Amino acid sequence: MSDCNSCPSKGKCGSSSESCGVKNNPNNKVKKIIGVMSGKGGVGKSTISAMLAKTLRKKGYKVGLMDADITGPSAVRLMGLQGEHAYGDGDGNIIPAENKDGIKVISLNLMMEDENQPVIWRGAMLSSCVTQFWSETLWGELDYLVIDMPPGTGDVTLTVMQSIPLSGVIMVTLPQDMVGMIVTKSLNMARMMKIPVYGLVQNMSYVKCPHCGEKINIFGDSTANMALEQGVPLLGELPTNADLAALSTGSGEISDPEISDVFETLVKTIG
Ligand code: ADP
Repeated sequence: MSDCNSCPSKGKCGSSSESCGVKNNPNNKVKKIIGVMSGKGGVGKSTISAMLAKTLRKKGYKVGLMDADITGPSAVRLMGLQGEHAYGDGDGNIIPAENKDGIKVISLNLMMEDENQPVIWRGAMLSSCVTQFWSETLWGELDYLVIDMPPGTGDVTLTVMQSIPLSGVIMVTLPQDMVGMIVTKSLNMARMMKIPVYGLVQNMSYVKCPHCGEKINIFGDSTANMALEQGVPLLGELPTNADLAALSTGSGEISDPEISDVFETLVKTIG
């Protein structure tokens, strides 16, 4: 949960760390809010957010997915919601779209006429979009809200951390020193904001040979060291895998049980 002590507006905004001046929609009851984060773009944060939401939903939980990666939104495709829209109910609420599994989704792409149009906004606009997603979306009752966080440690990430009472974050990384260095910045940001870090998921960790099953570590392996150095658990390793890539078409199932096991571990970890 965000803490006023680390906030640059401490003492000036007149609110508590519960909401940081951004009101929760009084119609919502959200039990746990899980941020999926990475300092770097393109590492699989959205894919892992979508898979986590799907895994939770399969277990019967009520699940929402907030796409806070405003300029690089992928939740609509990952949830099979192309052509669908979120809309206002005329009462100040945004009604999220719901996918075929019953996962509620909010993303700027659900409000755009054309998904190919870029969002060319300054930081303040991007941040206010995220706070509206939080304060205006009518989630109703949710067991879990998964937030696909923006990449990096900039304005919008800060807004999510300060405005939304995150239960904790899962950090996504790749087994490469350069990515590790950038992800460590995000880890440190979460610590500075006093947000619990559940642990690391190493994506694109290996490729499994379809003939003999041998695991080939294309990038090498640096995340285990990073987890050790940073004192955070390594929660799982995901392969570079065609089923995971195909999720971006909004369909498909994961056939490799080792992948499903990683998400089972994530569900157990977030509790
Ligand atoms: P991010 O949200 O970090 O920008 P994405 O989840 O959008 O990353 O993933 C970037 C690209 O890599 C997407 O095209 C996605 O389908 C693909 N991808 C992510 N993880 C995997 C994986 N484990 N195996 C194969 N493709 C993946």
